[in-house]
Amino acid sequence: MGSELEAPIHVLMVSYPAQGHINPLLRLGKCLAAKGLFVTFTTSETAGKNMRTANNITDKSVIPVGDGFLKFDFFEDGMADDDDGPKKINLGDFSAQLELFGKQYVSQMVKKHAEENHPFSCIINNPFVPWVCDVAAEHGIPSAMLWIQSSAVFTAYYSYFHKLVSFPSDSDPYVDVQLPSVVLKHNEVPDFLHPFSPYPFLGTLILEQFKNLSKPFCVLVDSFEELEHDYINYLTKFVPIRPIGPLFKTPIATGTSEIRGDFMKSDDCIEWLNSRAPASVVYISFGSIVYLPQEQVTEIAHGLTNSHASFLWVLKPPPKNIGVPPHVLPDGFFEETRDKGKVVQWSPQEEVLAHPSVACFLTHCGWNSSMEALTLGVPMLTFPAWGDQVTNAKFLVDVFGVGIKLGYGQAEKKVVSREEVKKCLLEATEGPKADELKQNALKWKKDAETAVAVGGSSARNLDAFVKEIKKRGAVGVSGR
Ligand code: UDP
Repeated sequence: MGSELEAPIHVLMVSYPAQGHINPLLRLGKCLAAKGLFVTFTTSETAGKNMRTANNITDKSVIPVGDGFLKFDFFEDGMADDDDGPKKINLGDFSAQLELFGKQYVSQMVKKHAEENHPFSCIINNPFVPWVCDVAAEHGIPSAMLWIQSSAVFTAYYSYFHKLVSFPSDSDPYVDVQLPSVVLKHNEVPDFLHPFSPYPFLGTLILEQFKNLSKPFCVLVDSFEELEHDYINYLTKFVPIRPIGPLFKTPIATGTSEIRGDFMKSDDCIEWLNSRAPASVVYISFGSIVYLPQEQVTEIAHGLTNSHASFLWVLKPPPKNIGVPPHVLPDGFFEETRDKGKVVQWSPQEEVLAHPSVACFLTHCGWNSSMEALTLGVPMLTFPAWGDQVTNAKFLVDVFGVGIKLGYGQAEKKVVSREEVKKCLLEATEGPKADELKQNALKWKKDAETAVAVGGSSARNLDAFVKEIKKRGAVGVSGR
């Protein structure tokens, strides 16, 4: 293995410590490393301790990836367990604390690596840590941002921030929002922007990134030109945007699948899926954060037993620091579904969605999950909870043609009945609607494969980005 000094272009990646943020940034990190860069990936110890436990990751060890290297380096965030267990803190206070600790650590890293003659040529962040662009600017280092939601959702935030169109407000909460090629109903708008949102703080945090948008020289998006042409085209007028997704499908990323940032070890799902008939299994997962009301879990469980569907259900234990009980499945559920279903705590989702036994995906519509399913050719039943998920659900159903609407955003406080679950499950797995969804999903799969293949739209954008970093890095080095 070469020494750090042999890799002249050094990139720092700073991620918000959430699973849905780390996965796409790490996928990008692996791509950049494979193309010959030295990537240092940092996030806070909150995520770091889970990542080290669940994966084969060691703090600060250098991993060769393709022509380059990847190194993890986690920073303390003041969240070490109290004497009486995991520290309880609200998200707003946590974000402020993360900024305090993170800014200091990233600044120190910048200075230390410059002194060691291995300076950073570029710093890349994802949303929720907008202060990273400030640290980069203070040190005169070029920065870029990886937007990990859709370009349509980016357009919504951009339009809200610059007051380009009307949005729901306290005085008019039911107004529609006109985006370039779609009208969003009030309950399809990224709901952190909605006056009814229980999490307005998150809207403010995301908008901080939009306030800071003049700082990054490039905004990368984990999406692809063919999927979101109207939005990318529209945004290009205002923002240096480059779609480079789906990142998990880039040939480089698939060759380094053992480097993962999961917070939990996956249960074995693949062997079980191997035993199922082709296109027979409903995969169910609500991502890494959403916690469904118990009543809703009960209805889904009855919907599954009543439909006699085969299923693989990820039912995560709730995070220890939010003080909610684990979900309970109805009496007799496991006996009744023993031959048909499997309940796990965490799955290797990309492998699951790529498995021929999977027929459809009941999903919370996080952007990573949406992209993974869409571009692996898997139809979806949409069950969003909050934020961009409600907008993604709208696009999956009405624009991309790969989904059936099942659930509502949690702000609507509606419980979907077992009858509705059964009806939609059957609709998505057999008959003409199921065929139509599958055909559409297969078309997106093919388009995505073309986008990330050599010469494809995303591959060209990624290459151009790497070239730009190398150019800026060379200027930085010669200017020192
Ligand atoms: N994921 C996984 N196993 C699971 C559930 C989720 O590997 O059992 C991964 C999934 O592939 C995706 C990420 O976790 O990459 C979740 O991101 P998403 O944006 O879909 O949702 P979030 O967790 O941010 O709400």
